[in-house]
Amino acid sequence: MASREIRVRFAPSPTGLFHVGGARSALFNAIVARQAGGSLVLRIEDTDASRNRPEWTDGIISALDWLGISPGTYEGPVFSSANAELHTAAAEKLYAAGRAYYCDCTRDDITARTGNPAAGYDGHCRERGLPPGEGRALRFRTPDEGVTVVEDVVRGTPEFANATIEDFVIARGNGTAVFLLANVVDDLDERISHVIRAEEHLSNAPKQQMLWEALGAGRPVWAHVPIIVNEKRQKLSKRRDKVALEDYRAEGYLAEAMKNYLMLLGWAPAGDREILPWKEIEAEFRLEDVKLAPAFFDEKKLRAFNGDYIRALTVPEFIEACQPWLAGPRVPWRPADFDAGVFAALAEDVQSRVSILSEVVPMVDFMFLDAVELDEAAWAKATKGAQVDVLRSVIAAFSEEDLPWDDGALHGALEQAGLEHGLKLGKAQAPVRVAVTGRSVGPPLFKPLELLGRSRTLARLRTALARLEG
Ligand code: GLU
Ligand code: ZN
Repeated sequence: MASREIRVRFAPSPTGLFHVGGARSALFNAIVARQAGGSLVLRIEDTDASRNRPEWTDGIISALDWLGISPGTYEGPVFSSANAELHTAAAEKLYAAGRAYYCDCTRDDITARTGNPAAGYDGHCRERGLPPGEGRALRFRTPDEGVTVVEDVVRGTPEFANATIEDFVIARGNGTAVFLLANVVDDLDERISHVIRAEEHLSNAPKQQMLWEALGAGRPVWAHVPIIVNEKRQKLSKRRDKVALEDYRAEGYLAEAMKNYLMLLGWAPAGDREILPWKEIEAEFRLEDVKLAPAFFDEKKLRAFNGDYIRALTVPEFIEACQPWLAGPRVPWRPADFDAGVFAALAEDVQSRVSILSEVVPMVDFMFLDAVELDEAAWAKATKGAQVDVLRSVIAAFSEEDLPWDDGALHGALEQAGLEHGLKLGKAQAPVRVAVTGRSVGPPLFKPLELLGRSRTLARLRTALARLEG
């Protein structure tokens, strides 16, 4: 049997920020195309003019690019709206062939006949032979008997009893095609071989397969990939959950980590591996192995993943990745006060302690600010009892002109001050850390103190102590 060329598509509707579920579908499609030496089409399904905005389309293109699906690696974007005439022509063709008929029933008419406001269409106009006319919808005549079998790479062969599929609308009263038809006509126009999309569309598949066949086009290979759920096993929703890829990107998730994580939503490589190079994912992914069960989008796990990816960077790569966070308009310091050399000196210690790049700024801001604001709760906790005495001793020790101002000597002096008051280093350094950095957590303390210098360090320690004595 001659195998046909593999052509897949990713067909988002530009009606909002780019959803992580869309990103996963895009990756699955891109990999299938690449493995088969086939083609990926990016089709923007923009036929709902009231909900589409061009900036959402730009957002999709830029998000895909971030994920490594760059312009030039796919066909398009093609816009569904540009195919409106083709959609209408297909509707007319189905009418001419007797596969569709006009209907002038309102919802109220249907409810009055069936007694059930949720009932499907009852076939009232099937044999009325209404000609086209303003306000008349065009309905597809579905078979009364038999089953429609959807051959789905992921889901096997789900069967849909034709009797349960109503004569569905394919064109509205104003003549425009509805999604079900437009989507099929575009797939045919783009010679799509495999429809890989979210499970949410599975119920559309039998209807769409009927349309494929009625238009004389055979049928595509279907693959409906599992829905994505939150920790409560609810379908991920943009009103309730953080679903915008853009938000994750802005928080400092690395594209490589995000891609790897998204691939695990419904698929897993063999063995215990979860973190693996993109090249291996691309080589090993198989649509046949995608699971049926809903995929849990676990933000905590993603975060941990991202931390692992951050730690796998070389220090120069990490510094490079941090640049947008260090130079952006929202940094808390004056841009001129930022010192790239100081950041570079602390980078390794920071790298091992962050999970997302937006956590970098609060780890180093105290190095580039004139004064820090103390976290009150942390300060209260760090200055209990003997800790205040340690702080006084530290100030005295750090003021000694012959104390060399370096990492090791500062460490030694602080440790010594703690011992004098019976406190271990951890407790002894707490008030110093809060006084100098404003916070109770951060990178190891002594290199920053060395870089901050004697007078700035002492000034902060004295200011903080004065608050207690004030
Ligand atoms: N535009 C549809 C969506 O965003 C996708 C339809 C399809 O992939 O067939 O859900
Ligand atoms: Zn009717």
